[in-house]
Amino acid sequence: MSDYDIAVIGAGAAGLAAGLKLQAAGRSFIVLEARDRIGGRAFTDTATLGLPFDCGAHWLHAAAQNPFTKIADRLGIRYNSRISFDDWMLFAAGREAPERITEEAGGYIDDVLRRIDKAGAKGKDVVFSDFIEEGNPWNMLVRQLIGQITSHDPEDCSTLDSWRYEEDGGDFPVEDGYGTLVARHAAGLPVTLSAPVTRIDWSGRDVKIETSKGTITARAIILAVPVNVLIADGIRFTPALPEKLVSAFHDCPMGVSEKLAMLLDRPVEGMGHVYGDVVFPGNGPFRTFNLHVNPFGRPLLVSHMAGTWGRDMERLGDREAEAMAVEAAVEAFGSGMRKRVVKTLRTHWASDPWTLGGYSHARPGRAASRLLFQEPVGGRIVLAGEHCSIDSYSTVHGAHYSGIAAARAAMALATPG
Ligand SMILES: Cc1cc2nc3c(=O)[nH]c(=O)nc-3n(C[C@H](O)[C@H](O)[C@H](O)COP(=O)(O)OP(=O)(O)OC[C@H]3O[C@@H](n4cnc5c(N)ncnc54)[C@H](O)[C@@H]3O)c2cc1C
Repeated sequence: MSDYDIAVIGAGAAGLAAGLKLQAAGRSFIVLEARDRIGGRAFTDTATLGLPFDCGAHWLHAAAQNPFTKIADRLGIRYNSRISFDDWMLFAAGREAPERITEEAGGYIDDVLRRIDKAGAKGKDVVFSDFIEEGNPWNMLVRQLIGQITSHDPEDCSTLDSWRYEEDGGDFPVEDGYGTLVARHAAGLPVTLSAPVTRIDWSGRDVKIETSKGTITARAIILAVPVNVLIADGIRFTPALPEKLVSAFHDCPMGVSEKLAMLLDRPVEGMGHVYGDVVFPGNGPFRTFNLHVNPFGRPLLVSHMAGTWGRDMERLGDREAEAMAVEAAVEAFGSGMRKRVVKTLRTHWASDPWTLGGYSHARPGRAASRLLFQEPVGGRIVLAGEHCSIDSYSTVHGAHYSGIAAARAAMALATPG
């Protein structure tokens, strides 16, 4: 007799949604989480800067359809439904760039994204970089934006995977924190924390799960850990997972997506809550720097760094990374910024052993591999997580829906007869 009908491994948005579904259905289950907190990549740090800061997920993407928009309304969690990426600003030489320049850069970026989308709509599973004009002066901004969207470089992204992503409905930043929202939604769910799963033996009728707190058994498991943890063999399987599935993991890896936040002595003057980028003159290695200014009127500058740029920044020492960020603030708003940074916060998702990256995107020619994640393995293992979503991968709501689907599949598998 197994200890539980179902064991859920990982308490990010996917594992929590699965757990809540199992709880509502009255099934016997356990949720095992490696960290001493729930939420995974949805995490709001309130301690470091003395205000809520989302280290990972921050926007309710596809907000009109996103179930967390309604959940936020119910829980009284605030978000901003008025701000739009269309109001993006470009800064250079200590001020806002002339409108003509911003329009030229923005027009080129839109054009590249449109061409990528068009190729995907035609069913073409080709590489993003095919649509970037060689030598265009705004390529640094295109690369930065694609990095932010996919966590990869354009050379690593599939147009078809991108086309399948459902983005309509607005992108609303969560003022009280998306991490707080996810955690409060799951407040009534029992989760066993600080219990990393190290080995899963599915050679017998029941699945044996080894954790730092001992071994348990379940009739079926929901594997809701990040795909890069699976790629890195963060959990050992006996027998090994099917080769075809493991190769599909490698086809849809997570890239790198990191943030660096600067707490200022006061908000940047004369500016509301703004999304922007600063461009540096010359041919240095980092010619652009993303800056999210005064979020919710707070005295903050937040930079989002992704792809190779994110990996390079994540590996820099604190001092070097902070110095670079301060230079970006000076380039955007003038030399007065040098003395105004009170404190900084950096994320390290790429070297965090329970995440090991940003979010998933299929490699060129490999969009079909995601479909494999929908199929249970050996009648006992069901996958969940953002990487399992076909149309909302790389998001919290995509992870959430995958958890609900996984719970349904696991309940069917764990029902005798
Ligand atoms: C910088 C950044 C910005 C982002 N911005 C947004 C955004 O604005 N909007 C949005 O919708 N999405 C955003 N995302 C993506 C979003 O955070 C993820 O898609 C989503 O949170 C993933 O949920 P998940 O449950 O699939 O995985 P995770 O949240 O990673 O959860 C997996 C869980 O498994 C646990 N785990 C790992 N290994 C083990 C083990 N061996 N044993 C037990 N537990 C284990 C982990 O600790 C973790 O809690 C962002 C991500 C990053 C990194």
